[in-house]
Amino acid sequence: MHKFSKSYVPAWRTALLSVCLTVALSSCGMLSTTTPTASDAAQPETTATSEQTRSADSSSGLTSAASTEGQTESPDGAGETASGSAEAGQTESQNTTASAGNTQTAGKLAYSFSQATLPDSSLATTTDDNNWERWPGTSSLEQSITVDLSAYKGSQQNTQALQGITVIVDPGHGLSDPGAVTTDSAGNQIREADITLPIGLALKDKLEALDATVVMTRTTDSWVSLYSRVAIAGNTVLDFWEQVLTQNGQSTDWTQSLRGDLQTMLDINDDDAASGGRGICQGIGATADLRNLLDAERETSQIIYISVHANTSDSDTTAHGLQTYISTNDSVYASESEAFGEESVDAEYLPVNPNYRNYNDADRTRLAQAIFNGVTGQVPQLLNAAGQAIYTGNYAFLREINLTSVLVETGFISNAEDLAVLTDATSQQQIAQGIADGVYTYFCQN
Ligand SMILES: [Zn+2]
Repeated sequence: MHKFSKSYVPAWRTALLSVCLTVALSSCGMLSTTTPTASDAAQPETTATSEQTRSADSSSGLTSAASTEGQTESPDGAGETASGSAEAGQTESQNTTASAGNTQTAGKLAYSFSQATLPDSSLATTTDDNNWERWPGTSSLEQSITVDLSAYKGSQQNTQALQGITVIVDPGHGLSDPGAVTTDSAGNQIREADITLPIGLALKDKLEALDATVVMTRTTDSWVSLYSRVAIAGNTVLDFWEQVLTQNGQSTDWTQSLRGDLQTMLDINDDDAASGGRGICQGIGATADLRNLLDAERETSQIIYISVHANTSDSDTTAHGLQTYISTNDSVYASESEAFGEESVDAEYLPVNPNYRNYNDADRTRLAQAIFNGVTGQVPQLLNAAGQAIYTGNYAFLREINLTSVLVETGFISNAEDLAVLTDATSQQQIAQGIADGVYTYFCQN
């Protein structure tokens, strides 16, 4: 049984922060009631409504096990007490670069720089019916960097396939945050964190075999706050921006300023709002600084983010199978606007900033579908024919990072058959291979 840290995780914000909350996250009364309590969040929900689910993208031509049947999982305690050391992911530099006119290349990656501008903050926000401000649906850095991924299309799945691509691999939970916990048939306690790590490490190997650059959010059983994970992704993106800006003789003052913000989050390494660890992500919506970072991330389509988790259901041990989760413009807005509409927003979650709405829903959907197909292709036992491939939710590291990103719920540890798969070393390798297959498909085949 997974436990909430009541003092750290008030209910509705838990829904915004937690991972592995899955369908229960948005279906919950905890988002719609006034003055919700922590106990609300601990109550498992059993049914997904059509608003909370997103069907697989049928236009992709990919098969999916689409159904509206929702699965459940207990919420995660995202705000466990921080302990241990922060482990910042190692950021590898891009491959050697070459210049051809305005277009530079790094391996198969091609990109150009066209505007010597700072983030454009001149576009005014608009206000919704709820009197909540919204950032423009366009990037403040639009087309400053243009990444060209066309060279990947049609590539064979070989040792050069993903040259120039960067994948941030995020094994969920760790150390003081075990994630979901269950007991196997032999009486051994199984922690989600101990399943996500070997799969994540195997995924690193599989992706590197395709020549991708891999940044890990953790490589050991260590504590890394959700907002440290956000910062690791941000720094990876800023590495690329600064490389391009420097190549083009541009100032990196604005990226250096953002790096300072991210370093604060890494240094504090704590999800609790009072700790300051949420940094520029504090509050509802996006501060102007965060918006600049999100827009910078929006332009680096060669960098993606994959978070590996395992699911659980307190109420239904038959619930099983792989699920993928993405955050979309609509899912983030729906969740946060509901929080905004509360009569009394807990001071812990202030300030209220404008809503950000420039996530790339289509690419996120395409990546999630490709990974779903890849994993269920490698490990057919994880295909739940009655389930669906892609769900939406408002997760911290999907909301506060504007890369193409997906949360992979590999299976249910509350289900005996899934648990046997998820704890088997060979199957873990196969799951990782399936995710890597999906990344390959995403960049090279569709
Ligand atoms: Zn999890």
